[in-house]
Amino acid sequence: MSFQIQEKPDVYDVIIVGSGAGGGMASKILSEAGLSVAVVEAGGDFDPAKDEDRTQLRPPWESPRRGAGTRIRPFGDFDQAIGGWDIEGEPYTHKDGTKFDWFRSRMVGGRTNHWGRISLRFGPNDFKRAGIDGLGDNWPIGYDDVKPYY
Ligand SMILES: Cc1cc2nc3c(=O)[nH]c(=O)nc-3n(C[C@H](O)[C@H](O)[C@H](O)COP(=O)(O)OP(=O)(O)OC[C@H]3O[C@@H](n4cnc5c(N)ncnc54)[C@H](O)[C@@H]3O)c2cc1C
Repeated sequence: MSFQIQEKPDVYDVIIVGSGAGGGMASKILSEAGLSVAVVEAGGDFDPAKDEDRTQLRPPWESPRRGAGTRIRPFGDFDQAIGGWDIEGEPYTHKDGTKFDWFRSRMVGGRTNHWGRISLRFGPNDFKRAGIDGLGDNWPIGYDDVKPYY
C-alpha cells in the first residue's frame, strides 16, 4: 500500500498585488479587521534597518559617487530606490507627445521607501475631480467630512 500526501493549498480572503503605499495600507486595515491577507510583491525584500548601504540617513558625501545617481537609484546612492524612471524589461512610452515620467519602484514597500516626507492635505476639489475634469472618480466623502481631523 502506498500513501500520497496531498498538501492543502493556503486559502486567503484577500490577495493584494503590490506592497507599496496603497497595498501596504490595505493589508494593514484588512488584516486588522480579521481577514487573512496575502501580499504579492514584484520586487525583492528590503529592510532599511539592515541595509545600511541604502539608508536615507547617511549624508550624500559618504556616497562613493558623491551623491550622483545611477539608473536604479536616480537620486543618489542613498535614496533607497530599487527602480527609477527606466526599469529594465518594463518599457514605458509617452502618449501622443505628452510628457509624464513615471518613477516606479520594485521592492517591498514600493515608493514609500523614498518619498519626500511631504504630506499634503486634500483640498475640496481633490475629492471631486471627476465632477471637475472627468478624471478618476468622485470620492463618496468630501473635504468637510475630513476637515475636523486635519
Ligand atoms: C522620489 C519620490 C518622492 C516622493 N515624495 C512624496 C511626498 O513627499 N509626498 C507624497 O505624498 N508622495 C510622494 N511621492 C509619491 C508617493 O511615494 C507615491 O504616490 C505612492 O507611494 C504610490 O503608492 P502606490 O501604492 O500607488 O504605489 P507604490 O508605492 O509604487 O507600490 C506599488 C508596488 O507594487 C509592486 N508591483 C508593481 N507591479 C506588480 C506586479 N505585477 N505584481 C506584484 N507587485 C507589483 C511594486 O513593486 C511596488 O512595490 C514620492 C514619490 C517618489 C518616487
